[in-house]
Amino acid sequence: MEHQCSDHHPGDCHPEHAPAEPGRRKILKMAGVAAMPLLGAMSSGGAQAQAASASEPALGQSPFTVRAYGAKSTGGRIVPLQIQRRALGARDVLIDILYASICHSDIHTVHGDWRAPPLPVVPGHEIVGRVLAVGNKVTKFKVGEIAGVGCMVDSCGTCENCLSDREQICLNGATFTYGSLDKVSGGHTFGGYSDKIVVSERFAIRIPPGMDLVSAAPILCAGITTFSPIRHWRVRPGWRVAVVGLGGLGHMAVKLAVAQRAEVTVFTTTPGKIADAARLGAREAVLWSDAAAMKRLANTFDLMISTVPYAFEAQPFMNVLKLDSTFVNVGLGEARGINPGAMALGRKSLSGSMIGGIAETQEVIDHCFARNIRPDIELIRPEQIDAAYERVVKKDVRYRFVIDFASGKNAA
Ligand SMILES: [Zn+2]
Ligand SMILES: [Zn+2]
Repeated sequence: MEHQCSDHHPGDCHPEHAPAEPGRRKILKMAGVAAMPLLGAMSSGGAQAQAASASEPALGQSPFTVRAYGAKSTGGRIVPLQIQRRALGARDVLIDILYASICHSDIHTVHGDWRAPPLPVVPGHEIVGRVLAVGNKVTKFKVGEIAGVGCMVDSCGTCENCLSDREQICLNGATFTYGSLDKVSGGHTFGGYSDKIVVSERFAIRIPPGMDLVSAAPILCAGITTFSPIRHWRVRPGWRVAVVGLGGLGHMAVKLAVAQRAEVTVFTTTPGKIADAARLGAREAVLWSDAAAMKRLANTFDLMISTVPYAFEAQPFMNVLKLDSTFVNVGLGEARGINPGAMALGRKSLSGSMIGGIAETQEVIDHCFARNIRPDIELIRPEQIDAAYERVVKKDVRYRFVIDFASGKNAA
């Protein structure tokens, strides 16, 4: 990924893969009648779902199997497989996944670029779907509403970071959406490339009625990861903001900074993206290799957001920062070759930022909806995930692949 959440997960749901869990048809039918407080009392305590019929237990009453897409080996192909979801707890929501987008982190995880992933690995931490059932203590969602899930699904809830809405840096370790130790069910977590997911309401994001669901998905990682530093460093109108790397994260950084009326400059290695940067609202785009441009831009920027996921020479970027300005590394590529003297001379800072807390994730969703900020996406079918991965690695994506699990569900 371009930042460091470590999950992976697949989900599915095309007609030819129609999930066969018992009770699904019944639940969908009930959810279809929507508005009814239907499964509002669906579970009590742990998972006492109200039976859909005398003979057929409601989905979520006990652990259940769902279709998913994932890799069975490190670097393996993404293939259909079956995973278990936990029974619906009192504060859980069961989400019928409609869209999940592909984050570069998914690919790094599957490829074992950071560490050997727990297998099978089911990526996906940009998830949007419809609530099919809720536990009996759930207050945030009703059946039939749209919910999103981002990079995390759990945290301690009691440490100082959790208590200040920074669950992503929970001092006891957040549980990421995929590939993380699952403290509820044991084993490891499975992400959004799947038919359904069960998650605590605390980690589900409300998707406003009327929001384009395909566009909402990438905001749950690429959006929040770039929005959080824009908020934290209080980007103001007229600020000169640099975005390094124009991929899934970078293109959202440009859109979000432009929406703050900042003047944005993009640094890219791809000549073909120069025109894209202008289309996205950037004032200019510069190739890193253009030494003359880097010299011209010395002492220019108030904030720089790097989405580069691999090691890079950082000092040329520090040189274009103004006095007291900050280089924020959200791509988590290793920043090499920092010159301490040059840093001191400009009192410059090198920082990092990782996704955002749940409240801030809700904020970026609402912010993007209110201002009609949408990622540029390409919709694919689950069978195309491997091909999409190859294209992301070749930087041939503009700018987010979203996997369509909605077709055939009649639930979008
Ligand atoms: Zn991500
Ligand atoms: Zn915590």
